[in-house]
Amino acid sequence: MQQEKKQDYIIRATAANGSIRAFAATTGNLVQYARQIHHTSPVASAALGRMLTAAAMMGSMLKGDKDLVTLQIRSLGPLKGIVVSADAQARVKGYVFQPNVDIPSKYPGKLDVGSAVGEGYLSVIRDIGMKEPYAGRIQLVSGEIAEDLTYYFAQSDQTPSAVGLGVLVDTDTSIRCAGGFIIQLMPDATEDTISKLETKLNQIPYVTDLLDMGKSPEEILEMILGDMELKIIDKMPTEFYCNCSKERVEKALISIGKEELEKIIAEDKQANLHCHFCGKEYDFTEEELKALLAEAK
Ligand SMILES: [Zn+2]
Repeated sequence: MQQEKKQDYIIRATAANGSIRAFAATTGNLVQYARQIHHTSPVASAALGRMLTAAAMMGSMLKGDKDLVTLQIRSLGPLKGIVVSADAQARVKGYVFQPNVDIPSKYPGKLDVGSAVGEGYLSVIRDIGMKEPYAGRIQLVSGEIAEDLTYYFAQSDQTPSAVGLGVLVDTDTSIRCAGGFIIQLMPDATEDTISKLETKLNQIPYVTDLLDMGKSPEEILEMILGDMELKIIDKMPTEFYCNCSKERVEKALISIGKEELEKIIAEDKQANLHCHFCGKEYDFTEEELKALLAEAK
């Protein structure tokens, strides 16, 4: 039965008297959109979808309107790398370096994201309007992304967290559903709260199974924090959105310098560039390139 697609959104909540903050998201549409523009294989869709879901929730944590958070994985596995970025309105964009990776599953029905990513590093860069963006980097724990982010939050942010991320890819390689949660302990969390939360987290099914059961972000948080004074703060929409424009691409072309531009004009007499994040194509004629050359150093 064909179900009507509901809009993607994030629920923000607190629990245990504010000593826990929690986020849960449903992101099936934006992951499906990313799959369509990047033509990702199932395992690449899952890896990118998990990253986009995490970035959406981390975007919703940003305080300033113009703040940005970027997550980068550089790795030795066949995917090579993933870059995703989110703004404070939880608008996300992202891509994988090798979108057509196909590797066998280790367990039936579970895509082997960890092996596709392989060993490497995860960087989180928060641009919060300071001179230098704040950046933290960790070595990947498993390449499964949720585990790596859990380790990142503990190491770099000193915030004990539980991260669950899931992407369900259908047999026709479309995205059936995607989503996840981030639960964080604030410094005033009591031992009792911590052990209660740990017990709950050990009991709940995998995120992909929760999504498969049709659980909403509200229901997932209810399952984990329902008996810990869960308070839903708000619900915000999330979507795939790229802010690229011809103007931005022009700036990038100017910044490569006179010599490089002269070479392009002499050899190709035109330029065709595409945005890594959304795949949009930008064409430049010889005249346009010559105008940019006048501005380059
Ligand atoms: Zn773009």
